[in-house]
Amino acid sequence: MKLKDSYEREIRDLRISLTDRCNFRCFYCLPSSKPTLNQKANILTFEEIADLSSIFVELGIDKIRLTGGEPLLRKNITTLIAMLAKLRTSTNRLDIALTTNGYLFPETAFELRAAGLDRVTLSLDSLRRERFTEITGVDGLDKVYESIEAAKRVGLDPVKINAVVVRGRNEDELADFAGFARDYNVKMRLIEFMPLDSDDNWRRDLVVTGREMFNSINVQFPLELIGTTRGSGTSWRYRFRDGAPGEIGIIAPVSEMFCGQCSRIRLTADGQIRTCLFSRVEHDLREAKREGATRAELIGLIRAAVEKKEPRHYINDPDFEPASRSMSFIGG
Ligand code: SAM
Ligand code: SF4
Repeated sequence: MKLKDSYEREIRDLRISLTDRCNFRCFYCLPSSKPTLNQKANILTFEEIADLSSIFVELGIDKIRLTGGEPLLRKNITTLIAMLAKLRTSTNRLDIALTTNGYLFPETAFELRAAGLDRVTLSLDSLRRERFTEITGVDGLDKVYESIEAAKRVGLDPVKINAVVVRGRNEDELADFAGFARDYNVKMRLIEFMPLDSDDNWRRDLVVTGREMFNSINVQFPLELIGTTRGSGTSWRYRFRDGAPGEIGIIAPVSEMFCGQCSRIRLTADGQIRTCLFSRVEHDLREAKREGATRAELIGLIRAAVEKKEPRHYINDPDFEPASRSMSFIGG
């Protein structure tokens, strides 16, 4: 029986955070230079992740995205990808994707692909070298360019690129991002700033809305909607009206809530199920597993957690309370 929540949403998309550690300090995510990190013993081993994933796959999960923190900081991640690829069946192809800042990607791209990775999303918040360094704390722009090349070379194509657009920081680059999508033939995903940063610096006026993003690009590069729904995806997708390659996706969780179609669930690096980015409760799968719960008991625990999935986020409500953990600890 498939995984469904109490609002009849089918859960098919699992995001697994492999670590809460990161080699970047993006101001909208993990600005603090000394975050409180989990002890290694609390972090799920690859065997635990693969075992738990096999249960999720049995329950109908057909997409797994590995994220973090920076997932490539986990040693031998290719081993994990190979373990996950073994969960594919004739009826469930299981799509395996990775989100990374790209700093360590070029040298592992080939192995990742060979182990069974299907897709990669890279983060890139500025095309200007100094600004990139200011935003992330690391002079890593060239690595992202190298990562795009490496991804294409090994067949991880089309490449998706995430940019968080924040007022006063990079919204003047919207048209440049569109030009970049065209020149490099990549799928650019422009994301509204969400209140998930570890230092609590989010403010509503810093959010550049999806509508604003669309307008800024559309005047220079006219856009055309691809499809008329988001489906269970999070972005409105656009092609360039003049037929140029590349794609623009706009992800606007703050200004246009899309919780009604949400098909996601998250597993944190320390083995907690989170049913929403903005959850204030977690469900401890790690302890259950380590205490010897049977497969049936773990299935029961997962179903019970999914049953409690929040109907929506409350960012726009006056009494909004921030999530219990910030983005790099949840797994974006
Ligand atoms: N370290 C990897 C990376 O940066 O690609 C993976 C983890 S990161 C948390 C995943 C995505 O979350 C990134 O593309 C990042 O831009 C996005 N993100 C982080 N904090 C965010 C925030 N406050 N609002 C919106 N997106 C955010
Ligand atoms: Fe690290 Fe990714 Fe967060 Fe930037 S967005 S601090 S790279 S986890």
